[in-house]
Amino acid sequence: MDISAITSAARNAQAAWGRLSLERRGEYLQEIGRRFAARGEEVVAIVCEETKKSPGDAWFADLVPNLDLFDWWTGKGLEAIKPQKAPISRLKFPGKRATLSYEPRGVIGLISPWNYPAALPLRTLVPALMAGNAVLFKPSEVTPETGALLVDIFNGVLPPGLLSLVQGAAEAGEAVIDAADHVVFTGSVATGRKVATRCAAQLKTVSLELGGKDAAVVLADCDLERTAQGVFWAGCSNSGQNCAAVERVYVERPIYDRFVGALAQLAARADVAPVATEAQDAIVRRHLDDAVARGAKAHGTYPGAVILTDVPEDAQVMTEETFGPLIPVVPVADAEEGLARANGTRYGLTTSLWTKDVKRAEALAERAESGVVTINNASFTAAMPFAPWSGRRESGHGVTNSHLAILDMVSPKFVLVDTNKDPEAWWFPLSGDALALARDTLDWLTAQGTAKLTRTVGVLRGMKRRVGEQKGWFRG
Ligand code: NAD
Repeated sequence: MDISAITSAARNAQAAWGRLSLERRGEYLQEIGRRFAARGEEVVAIVCEETKKSPGDAWFADLVPNLDLFDWWTGKGLEAIKPQKAPISRLKFPGKRATLSYEPRGVIGLISPWNYPAALPLRTLVPALMAGNAVLFKPSEVTPETGALLVDIFNGVLPPGLLSLVQGAAEAGEAVIDAADHVVFTGSVATGRKVATRCAAQLKTVSLELGGKDAAVVLADCDLERTAQGVFWAGCSNSGQNCAAVERVYVERPIYDRFVGALAQLAARADVAPVATEAQDAIVRRHLDDAVARGAKAHGTYPGAVILTDVPEDAQVMTEETFGPLIPVVPVADAEEGLARANGTRYGLTTSLWTKDVKRAEALAERAESGVVTINNASFTAAMPFAPWSGRRESGHGVTNSHLAILDMVSPKFVLVDTNKDPEAWWFPLSGDALALARDTLDWLTAQGTAKLTRTVGVLRGMKRRVGEQKGWFRG
């Protein structure tokens, strides 16, 4: 693989692509969306083969939610990057107009993990291309074939060179960073730190979507059956290999025993697939062994879903991302304690609150320290293209989805046109009438009510005097 040849092809293709109208680029992406849907079965099959996940997990996460992604990004999602007229005051800036537009950044380097190997890259590929960029896409070394299939679908439609596949592990990721103008990274905190450091050394912008240790706070008045099902799903879907998996559950004491019982029943019945890699399996086993060694009780057996009780708060399974089907459940005195413990983490991706008292939950949500808060649901908003997905603290500062994501893939350009015939008040000479006008302007801008009108007249007169002064100074 010759990264410099790929990059120069990307730059050439981007120059023409970036000049196309949004509508024209939208037509390409719409066609890619149709082809992606038509090859849906193939996508699911390759995702399952490479990640060992269940077909249900692949259908509901890697395929179905991505079908309307193309419609959103070729329609409403583009509003944020359409050119806008600047709201210029004619009095403060006479004779001027300006436009704010957005230019593509150039070549976006996209580095992805293996847990949702189709869904995650799509959420960047589509807006990055719509914004007029070329993309160098490095899938995880665990899921190269899913990456290759996506690129094949896109490249059946896109001009050659615009989207390129870079296969490999860390070294390939580093090459992508070095070649790109902007980097979108999704992965672990440890790798995110290395990626951020490399980008910083080259003064490159980077979006970081990292790990989580998300909590569910379950209040005594919740619908117990539905909450248990929702929390269990959020902890064990994709075998827990979800950045926003519920990895800690804080339950109000009055319903604690019943809630643990309901979760344990679900764990005994659910067919949770094995985790994707040996390395991931080793982490899950380490967390499980550590918890049990510290006195925790396991309900269920791994591989498979395990509900953990009597887990000390400093056990690995409570503090480090597990990325597997272990759900520690801890009793708390009340919602306040639950929320404080939920916030007591170095991560901050999502928080879920479960109660019938929605008003109370909305008030608690204001104090939840995470980028997403869901009330009576969990984790699934990543599938909503209009909903910003972002973290706090070590979960990273990137934003996926929504207008905020596409604004990260463009550079703003402000073009000002001046048709004013007179010199500007702030040009030379900077004495005499200039200072008087500056004081008049201060009075005018801070005036209220009818005084504003009088002072407007004062400023207009001051401007006239000032222009006279400047013209005289220039000629003399
Ligand atoms: P990882 O950090 O091991 O790898 C992610 C990607 O980075 C891979 O493509 C890998 O090859 C590449 N990489 C490795 N070293 C690199 C380097 N030095 N420079 C550049 N690239 C390098 O993560 P993973 O195990 O593939 O994925 C699991 C992690 O991803 C979990 O921590 C999970 O929480 C996180 N994740 C976060 C989100 C989110 O939206 N916040 C979504 C999905 C997954």
